[in-house]
Amino acid sequence: MNLVPAKAPVTGRVVSNDCCLKGKSASFVRHLVVDVSGTPLVGNFLVGQSFGVIPPGVDEKGKPHKVRLFSIACPSSGEDGQPHILSTTPKRVIDEFHAQRPVDDPQNHSLFLGVCSNYLCDRRPGDELQITGPAGKRFLLPANPADHDYLFLATGTGIAPYRGMLMELLEGSGEPCPSQMHLVMGSPYRTDLLYDDLFCRLQAEHDNFHYHTAISREPRPGSSRGIYTHQLIDEQIDGFGPLLQSPRTLIYICGLLGMQIDLYRVLARHGLGDGFLRIGEELRETNSCDWTAEQIKRHIRATPRCMVEVY
Ligand code: NAP
Repeated sequence: MNLVPAKAPVTGRVVSNDCCLKGKSASFVRHLVVDVSGTPLVGNFLVGQSFGVIPPGVDEKGKPHKVRLFSIACPSSGEDGQPHILSTTPKRVIDEFHAQRPVDDPQNHSLFLGVCSNYLCDRRPGDELQITGPAGKRFLLPANPADHDYLFLATGTGIAPYRGMLMELLEGSGEPCPSQMHLVMGSPYRTDLLYDDLFCRLQAEHDNFHYHTAISREPRPGSSRGIYTHQLIDEQIDGFGPLLQSPRTLIYICGLLGMQIDLYRVLARHGLGDGFLRIGEELRETNSCDWTAEQIKRHIRATPRCMVEVY
């Protein structure tokens, strides 16, 4: 952890920076590959960790920008098995300004551009980056991967660590891990799916890997609406039930906070939360359908079998 601290960043060099969306999308998401040769990061990061980037320039107070963390999207052995190369999945933050503090002007709805996400998406091969890290010690694969089965849940760029994890489990050195692995990916539209070709290929090549997509804004046949990740689990609970009942199973949740909250409710409603959630006394006697997001945040903790990275 933190072999390279923010007060003494190292220089990485962009190798490539390519779009990784499935189709013509309103979003801009890239697969950014960075060479960290000659730095303490070489061979010293794990999939599931993040690395930091310090964008150039100063913030609105005139202070140098702070470090921003990005999920590592390659296996622990590095991109294409090269321990000096790592990758991530930056998405351009493009929004309108929303007043969040009392001092903010409520009439201000001008364009807001995320500083570091756009900086990274703009970079070209050969450009230098100020890098720190690695960070994170909880959202990791287990020491003996074959001892477990897996449910990976993502929304949007929350898919980043699963690219590396699934490549590591299924295509790493030695035999592919024989465990059952389910990936549930939530996207607004089918064109927003990330690394879709990779996951389709892995599913075709490995009987133990199952790729599910939850498309939220495209009506499904026979319905006027799309579906969220937790709704897909709920709807297909007969299929997911045995996986969730098994003491071997680990759950990984990466992306939006709302996905975590809603999944906890679904697990509890089906009586499947036991191995994954520690429910505080305050909620034990109440119906999980009535749990508020605030109560869940305050009174439910993930067990060591449930890994969570949400914002
Ligand atoms: P996106 O492309 O907008 O996709 C998010 C999807 O999740 C949409 O389909 C959205 O549906 C759906 N959704 C909304 N509420 C949901 C809920 N309660 N349960 C399940 N699905 C729900 O995503 P994005 O812009 O990439 O954002 C991904 C988030 O992950 C960001 O907040 C990012 O910071 C975070 N992230 C975290 C990590 C990490 O912790 N290491 C790594 C990468 C990304 P609708 O929009 O149609 O409602």
